[in-house]
Amino acid sequence: MPKTDVLIVGSGSAGIFAATWLTLFRIPFTMLESRPGPLKTGQADGVQGCDGAHSTVRRSLNYHMLGDSTDTVWGVMDIYPITNFPDIRRKCTIHSSAGNLVIIPREGGSLVRFYIQLPAGSSPKNTTLDDLHAAARAIFAPSYSMDFAATSWWSTYAIGQRLADHFHADLRVFLTGDACHTHSPKAGQGMNVSLQDGYNIGWKLSSVLSGLSPASILSSYVLERSKTAADLIAFDRELTQLFARQEGYEGEFAQYFTRSGRYMAGFTARYEDSLVTDLAGSEERVATGFSSILQHLISRFTPSGQDPDSIIEPLLVLSSPFLSMSDALIPELFTPVTGKWRMRDLHKTYVDDEHYNNGHGHAYEKYGVDAEEGAVVIVRPDQYVAKVLRFGDVEGVEALFKGSELARSRKFVS
Ligand SMILES: Cc1cc2nc3c(=O)[nH]c(=O)nc-3n(C[C@H](O)[C@H](O)[C@H](O)COP(=O)(O)OP(=O)(O)OC[C@H]3O[C@@H](n4cnc5c(N)ncnc54)[C@H](O)[C@@H]3O)c2cc1C
Repeated sequence: MPKTDVLIVGSGSAGIFAATWLTLFRIPFTMLESRPGPLKTGQADGVQGCDGAHSTVRRSLNYHMLGDSTDTVWGVMDIYPITNFPDIRRKCTIHSSAGNLVIIPREGGSLVRFYIQLPAGSSPKNTTLDDLHAAARAIFAPSYSMDFAATSWWSTYAIGQRLADHFHADLRVFLTGDACHTHSPKAGQGMNVSLQDGYNIGWKLSSVLSGLSPASILSSYVLERSKTAADLIAFDRELTQLFARQEGYEGEFAQYFTRSGRYMAGFTARYEDSLVTDLAGSEERVATGFSSILQHLISRFTPSGQDPDSIIEPLLVLSSPFLSMSDALIPELFTPVTGKWRMRDLHKTYVDDEHYNNGHGHAYEKYGVDAEEGAVVIVRPDQYVAKVLRFGDVEGVEALFKGSELARSRKFVS
């Protein structure tokens, strides 16, 4: 294998999302996917272990998964059900003396996914599709009938709630996704969190390797994603306990599930402050918030020859009525000349008002921004809010970007 800047082991959700960023930044990388064949050796500056729950990268580092000593066995199937169960097109769970089941309606109006927690001692290898059908029928009986017009896919697997004891080696080898955290499928978080891991390390590594940021920002991957993984496992543990036991009162599980909706949708992630996040220095009072950044600051952080919006993309959301606005009033900062044809980009200004094509976004109202005061929100490449400031607080903006100021060398580790 030829020398490469980054070696990505595994092309699942975490691997693909990390690769997206490296492609965007034109960083040379090689992606390995398990295929039978002779062992190849090579050299890379950085390695990403995105190779799933049985990660070879993790094992070769002699890192361990800590947590459950035994696995829970699950059956999963995508079915076309014939049933009189009224909520078959709703996400719901069924607790019965014959077992528990999660229903997830799938796309297209008739396909449905069932997750069935199989009794302790079940073996994934010895469980058949007939066993899964029988288990589902028993859970719905006697109140409801359940038959299967077709089963388009099914599988059984064993999983435990576990967290890797380390997420990186020397900030050059990083574990992502199932390679460093595993848990039950109930909250539907495995792929989401793995994608976010890949996205998080992808943009940071690309930024370092293209010489835009110092290698020290990489430690924020470990800080942020190991906490996210630990929180997820704690959440999954609580959910599993509630799922398995008899409800304390009717609707207890449903209430918990609804309360956890924002968490499961990924809206509650809260990272500790680091070189790329400064919530302690944020004025959350206003943002609920929004912004304006000085031109010189953007120029300072943009390598010469690159488009002015390639590193920091300024977006403007105006509270003034649509018809009272004129292009001439919008600072040039928000209409930069970019791209191959050197055209003025007109997609960076938005008006928070009723529009005959697009309706009304009510952005100021939704985000709680005072239209008289305005606000500045700095959003990282992975869409996480890094800092919220008063309108015009240039020093506050500068303070955050200083931490990830241009590295002198393009090398990841020299
Ligand atoms: C049956 C089932 C249903 C699930 N349902 C959901 C759901 O509804 N929602 C959800 O969010 N999550 C779900 N998950 C979890 C989700 O699939 C995983 O959390 C997610 O795929 C993890 O992504 P990953 O990239 O870390 O690993 P994987 O997707 O496992 O990808 C790892 C890749 O690495 C490759 N690989 C392994 N070893 C090597 C090696 N030595 N060299 C090279 N390549 C290697 C593998 O072939 C694979 O392509 C489900 C999981 C299962 C098993």
